[in-house]
Parts: sequence; structure tokens; C-alpha cells
Amino acid sequence: MIRNFRQGRIFFARLDHGADIISQITNLAAENGIETGAISAIGALSRAELGYYDQVSQEYCKIPVDQPVELASCTGNISLRDGRPFVHAHAALSDRTGRTWSGHLTCGTVFAAEVYLQELSGLSLKRVPDSITGLALWGEE
Ligand code: ZN
Repeated sequence: MIRNFRQGRIFFARLDHGADIISQITNLAAENGIETGAISAIGALSRAELGYYDQVSQEYCKIPVDQPVELASCTGNISLRDGRPFVHAHAALSDRTGRTWSGHLTCGTVFAAEVYLQELSGLSLKRVPDSITGLALWGEE
């Protein structure tokens, strides 16, 4: 599936200390009427949870990261799921030695974070259940 978009508004946002990073980006999108977009973020999290999708069992394995980490890199997108903006983000997190954890970013408590959000305009991009992968992927309803 390929869809063509036009560039819309560009936002820089400093996220709130103590808030959940995914919820904050979701709210940023919802409050500004953004249904589709591209995101990236850097900063630090006081804790986080990553996910690894087991392709056989088709379930996410949780990877708790219960310590302060750098948000060395975070990239992702926003599309519609069940009619609301849905943030899909992956992250690389690092500790004081540079050791990293990476994967699907389920949640993370913001210590400090800066987000770049590029709005994309065009037809709605919706997530629908995909029977092959067990995931909610972009597609037609
Ligand atoms: Zn993912």
C-alpha cells in the first residue's frame, strides 16, 4: 500500500516532565487536529517499556527498562486507529555506559524530551487488523 501526502504544519514541542511520552504525543496530535504525521524525538526518560513482537506467537514481549536512560533516538508515525490519532514509535535508549535497548516504544516517563512533528495532509491513513501478521497495519477498511 502506498499513499501520497502533502507536507502540512511542522511542530516542535517540549514534553512535560513526568508525563508519558506516547500519551503526550498523541494529545499533541489530537489537540491540533493531526491525523497523519511523522515524528522524531530526543531527550531522556526516567523509565520506559519497550516491546518485541514475537512473530510466531503474534504477541508483544515486554522489555522493561526501569532506570533513567537517554532517549538516544525515537522515530515513528501517526495514523488513525479506531478514529483517533495513534502514535507508533520505536526507540533506542542508552545508559551511562552507552549500552542500549531498542524496540517498539510502548511507554516512557519523560525526564525531558523534544519532539519534531511533521503533519501530513491527504487521504486518511487508517490502521486495520491484518490477519497475516496479527498487527494493526495501514490498509483499507
Ligand atoms: Zn512497532
